Amino acid sequence: MAIETNLELIHTRIAQACQNAGRAQNGVQLLAVSKTFPPEAVAQAAACGQRDFGENYIQEGVDKITALAHLGLTWHCIGPLQSNKTRPVAEHFDWVHSVDRLKIAQRLSEQRPSTLPPLNVCIQVNIDGGPTKAGVAPEDALALAQAVVTLPGLRLRGIMTIPEPTPDFAATLKVHQRAKALFDQLRATGLPLDTLSMGMSADLEAAVQAGSTLVRVGSAIFGGRAVREAATPPASQQTGL
Ligand SMILES: *Cc1c(COP(=O)(O)O)cnc(C)c1O
Repeated sequence: MAIETNLELIHTRIAQACQNAGRAQNGVQLLAVSKTFPPEAVAQAAACGQRDFGENYIQEGVDKITALAHLGLTWHCIGPLQSNKTRPVAEHFDWVHSVDRLKIAQRLSEQRPSTLPPLNVCIQVNIDGGPTKAGVAPEDALALAQAVVTLPGLRLRGIMTIPEPTPDFAATLKVHQRAKALFDQLRATGLPLDTLSMGMSADLEAAVQAGSTLVRVGSAIFGGRAVREAATPPASQQTGL
């Protein structure tokens, strides 16, 4: 079964990266990014012990969360958010990594059902000034974090970054180290942050080297995806954004 083999390979890569960095192996959590893959693929990964899954498209995610509710998995929304589409996120997901403005955070907090624990939140930071423009500017992260941490329906956990891919390890490491420095600065102000969400299939070694606590891995677990979904979600899913 490819998913099982792939998960073993990822665990080995994370362990090796931790060893190279002199870090404890249990200091890096694996988020399996299952966007565009069917519930059966998630169930296969879950059967191998994987508990945390990431989705980019809200409706697709909610469908899988509903179909797999009996498995008791933890679901992370990692895709771009529009303020008129926050309710299903607040009602169904456990985490959101892509909060980049206060209005979105306020809506998520208001819409979080009181029967559920607070929604875990990371603030997305545009760490390299990348052209996607998603994420708050690094210099604005502290003000946003200080506002988000007061919202009763949310639990602020950390920051998330998606740097532009580069084949150069040293350059990638440098960008990830900037994110780690920002994370440490925010923590130094007293914010109770424990999650630095950075690193994907191609750059998890550099991210772990820099201090990532959570890597988001999709294609290296589930295989290649047909479309470059961050830029152009399939038409059937655009209404879910
Ligand atoms: C798709 C996606 C990932 C996973 O990317 P891979 O290169 O397939 O590992 C991680 N984070 C975010 C925000 C994504 O959209």
